[in-house]
Amino acid sequence: MTGVKHMKWWGWGVDGVAFHYEDKPRFAPFVLEKVGLDITTPGRQPLQFDELTVPASQLTEDLRGQLREIVGEDQVVTEDLERVVHAKGKSVRDLVRIRAGKLGRVPDVVVYPGSHEEVQSLVKFAVDNDLVLIPFGGGSNIAGSLEAPLNEQRTIISVDLGRLDQVLSLDDDAGLATIQAGAQGPDLEEQLNRRGWTLGHFPDSFTHSTLGGWVATRSSGMQSDKYGDIADITRGLRMATPEGTLELRPLPSTSTGPSVREMVLGSEGRLGIITEVTVQVHRVPEVREIQAYFFPSFAAGIRAMHDIARSEAQVTVSRVSDDRETAFSFATQKQSKGMSKYVTAGLMKFLEARGWDIDQLAMSFIGFEGSKSHVTRQKAMVKALIAPHGGFGVGQGPGALYDQKKFDTPYIRDFLLDRGAAADVSETAAPWSKLKPLYDGVIAAAEKAMAEVEREGYIMCHLSHSYHSGACLYFTFAIADDSPDVLQRYDVLKRAVQEAFIAGGGTLSHHHAVGVEHSPWMEADISPVGVQMISSLFNGVDPKQNLNPGKVV
Ligand code: FAD
Repeated sequence: MTGVKHMKWWGWGVDGVAFHYEDKPRFAPFVLEKVGLDITTPGRQPLQFDELTVPASQLTEDLRGQLREIVGEDQVVTEDLERVVHAKGKSVRDLVRIRAGKLGRVPDVVVYPGSHEEVQSLVKFAVDNDLVLIPFGGGSNIAGSLEAPLNEQRTIISVDLGRLDQVLSLDDDAGLATIQAGAQGPDLEEQLNRRGWTLGHFPDSFTHSTLGGWVATRSSGMQSDKYGDIADITRGLRMATPEGTLELRPLPSTSTGPSVREMVLGSEGRLGIITEVTVQVHRVPEVREIQAYFFPSFAAGIRAMHDIARSEAQVTVSRVSDDRETAFSFATQKQSKGMSKYVTAGLMKFLEARGWDIDQLAMSFIGFEGSKSHVTRQKAMVKALIAPHGGFGVGQGPGALYDQKKFDTPYIRDFLLDRGAAADVSETAAPWSKLKPLYDGVIAAAEKAMAEVEREGYIMCHLSHSYHSGACLYFTFAIADDSPDVLQRYDVLKRAVQEAFIAGGGTLSHHHAVGVEHSPWMEADISPVGVQMISSLFNGVDPKQNLNPGKVV
C-alpha cells in the first residue's frame, strides 16, 4: 500500500492520543462553571467505522485502469476508510457531521502520485474526461476547503500528495530549499534540521499539515513575527495546471507584473496542484526561548505588543491572551506540586498587593531566538518596552510548558465533542487602532448569539502574529449543545463572530483561508469587484471547474 499516514477519520491526530482531564484538577470545575457541562460523566463514543453508510464509489473500471497507468496499480485506492478520510477537513462542522455518519459527497477514488509528471498527467486526465480533482495535503483545514459540492455528479478524485515528502535541494548560499509539497511539518523540519536549517513555520496543526496545504491556504505559524507567514516564506513554486506546468523561479523580488506567486497563495487547489515549493530557510538558532509575562489586563497587553512591533526589538512570538483565555490556561494546568504551588499562590498575592485584579490578568508569551548575546539584548529591550504597561516577567517555565504542549491542544476539541460541547476557532487581523474595539465587538456579538440560541457558551481570545500596522486576534468559542442540530446553533454563533470581524474593520480570516466556510462574506472582505477578479482568474485557468470546485468564491 501507499505508506502514507492519515489522521483519525472522526477527529484530530493519531489513534491512542487523547486529552485527559483527570490530572488537571481545575478543568472539570471550570467547564461546569462556564458552560454548565459535567465532563466527569463518561464521554459518548463516536460511531464505529463499520456503522457508517459510505456511498459507493462511482469510479468505472475504465477510469480505474487509466488512473493505474498514470500512478501505478497500488496508488489507486477505493477502500471506504480511505475515501472517508479524504472527504473532509477538521472543522467542528466536519467533525460533527462525520461523527453522525453524515458523510456528504465522498471522493470516488484516492490516488497517490509519486512525481510532478504524474500530477501533471492527472490534471490533464481530469480535464480531458471532465472529472473533479481535489488536492489533499494533511486534511487539517477548518474552512471546508476539501469538501466536494453535495450535488457533484462527476467522478471525484482526491489527489493525496503524501508520497511527495522530500527536501529536493538546498542552496546554502541563498538559504533557499526546494521541498516537495506533500511534506508534513515534522518530515521537512527533520530533513532541514539534519543539515542545520529550519523553515521556522510552526502552525498549531504542524504535525499533520503539509507545505502544499500551507501555501494553498496562506497559512501562518506561531513564529511568524520572525520568519513571516507562508506568503513571505514562499519564494518560488511548481504547479500542475490545466494549461501545463507553472514554474516560478525563486527570486528575492521582481516587478514583472501582478504577482502570479500571490495568485497561487491561498488558491485552495482551484488553479492547480502545487508539487514543489522553494522556501526561505534559516540556520537553526543557537538559543530558543519562550518567556512568559503577566499583564494587568488584555488592553495593556495589546498596547505592549504594539510597542514591541514598532520598536527595534526582534521577537519570534508575540502572544497575549485575554482574561478569559488566561483563566482557561490556568484551568488546563496540571496539579502544581511542592514549591511551585506556593510560588504561584505567592505571586498572585504579590500582584494583588500591587493593585492588580487577578480576574483581569492576561498571560503573554514572547519568543526569542538567535545567538546568546542577541537573545540577552532582545529580552532586555522587551523588558523595558513592556514595563510601562505593567508587564511582569514570570520566567521560562510556563513558556516552555506551552511550547511542549501546543501540538496536543487540538485534542481537547474531540474530548468536548464527546461530552456535548462544540468548539472551534475564528481569527482576524486588523490595524492596531481598531483591535480593542474589534475585540469588544466580537465578544458582545458572540454573547448575544449565545443568548439568542439559548445555550451556555464561552469565547476567549489571544493576540498573535504582530505586524507593523496591526495584528491577528484569534478567538476560540464553544457552545454546550448535545442535540443533533447543534450545527444550526453553532452557525448563529459563527456568523455573529465573522460579521463582527467585518464590522470592526478586520478580515474574515488571517490564516485559515476561505473554503466554503467563509465564502459567503467574501464581497464584504474584498469588495464585489475583488470577487469578480478572482472568479475570472479561476474560470480562465479552469473553465470547466475540474479543480476543487466551489471553494473561495
Ligand atoms: P488540506 O487540509 O489537506 O487542504 C487545504 C486546502 O489546500 C484544500 O483546498 C486542498 O485542496 C488544498 N491543497 C492542499 N495541498 C495542496 C497542493 N499541494 N496543491 C494545491 N492545493 C492544495 N492554520 C494555520 O495557518 N496556522 C495554525 O496555527 C493552524 N492551526 C490549526 C490547528 C488545528 C487544530 C486545526 C484543525 C487547523 C489549524 N490550521 C492552522 C488550519 C490548517 O492546518 C491549515 O489550513 C493548513 O495550511 C492546511 O494544510 P493541509 O496540508 O492539512 O491541507
